[in-house]
Amino acid sequence: MYRIRFHGRGGQGMKTASRILGTAFFLQGYEVQDAPRYGAERRGAPIFAYVRAAPNPINERGIIQHPDLVIVADDSLMGIPAAGVLQGVDRDTVLLCNTHEDELTWQQRLNIKSDIIVLPQTEDTGDPVELPYVGSRCAAAAAALTGVIPCAALTSAVQEELGDLSDDVVRKNIATALSAFDAMQSYSGIVKESGMISASVYTKPDWIEMPFEDASISAPAIHASSTSVEVHTGLWRTTRPVIDYKKCRGCWWVCSTLCPDGDIEVVQDKPVIDYDHCKGCLICVGVCPSHAITAVPEHVVQQPATESKS
Ligand code: SF4
Ligand code: SF4
Repeated sequence: MYRIRFHGRGGQGMKTASRILGTAFFLQGYEVQDAPRYGAERRGAPIFAYVRAAPNPINERGIIQHPDLVIVADDSLMGIPAAGVLQGVDRDTVLLCNTHEDELTWQQRLNIKSDIIVLPQTEDTGDPVELPYVGSRCAAAAAALTGVIPCAALTSAVQEELGDLSDDVVRKNIATALSAFDAMQSYSGIVKESGMISASVYTKPDWIEMPFEDASISAPAIHASSTSVEVHTGLWRTTRPVIDYKKCRGCWWVCSTLCPDGDIEVVQDKPVIDYDHCKGCLICVGVCPSHAITAVPEHVVQQPATESKS
């Protein structure tokens, strides 16, 4: 069975990538599962989608624990532990990364035994969520690495999955997919099917005894991470809203009310953005009546001072 996981950000088309790859496998006669996994996250949040494909019926369910292939559409996710890109990756896993950097750099940076293959990033839009056709590129590259999907099946899968879009968009997606498919031909077949997981090696989770206590004692006080305040969802952001206070008219009830996460605090009648938790959905940019809030790519904000002067 092939177990394949796509990682990207909300808006990059990973769900579509998994559907294109799943459909291409299906057209080749495989049994297929494809599904995305995300919650209430929005644009820019790390998400993943997975595909299982096998010549026989698939009884395995749930997320893929030990992938044969991991595709990373956005290399900035590598540094975010919550994105779980390397979860379950071992020496038999192939890691395919859409990036400007080379394989050696990633091998040294990640220090893992897996094969790392670079899908050369063709565009630099400033905002990685805006990468055009990246879902089709990643699906096509994955198809090429398996070596069992011909380009005719890939083309039909793109057509089928994107058929509701305009002819021009479908044509561009097919062209982009085929160029990624060709670029990966030297690695054709590098991703191998792994065996079925046997239930005989399943270990039950440890049993935890929960002593019964009166509600006044057992009411929880949460100090650990993974609570909503402690999770710094600002790490998901690829573009940040920046307020120009010279243009701001102080109508804070607009931006602070419409921020879906309540990340705009009002301090002495001025809106102040909480960058630890702002996810960069940019709704505030759209609703600000005086255009006082602009969107600035994170890599521009985070540039070292010397670099930005040069
Ligand atoms: S909506 Fe715009 S102008 Fe109004 S307070 Fe917010 S940033 Fe300022
Ligand atoms: S501050 Fe703006 S960009 Fe950040 S979460 Fe709120 S509405 Fe979205």
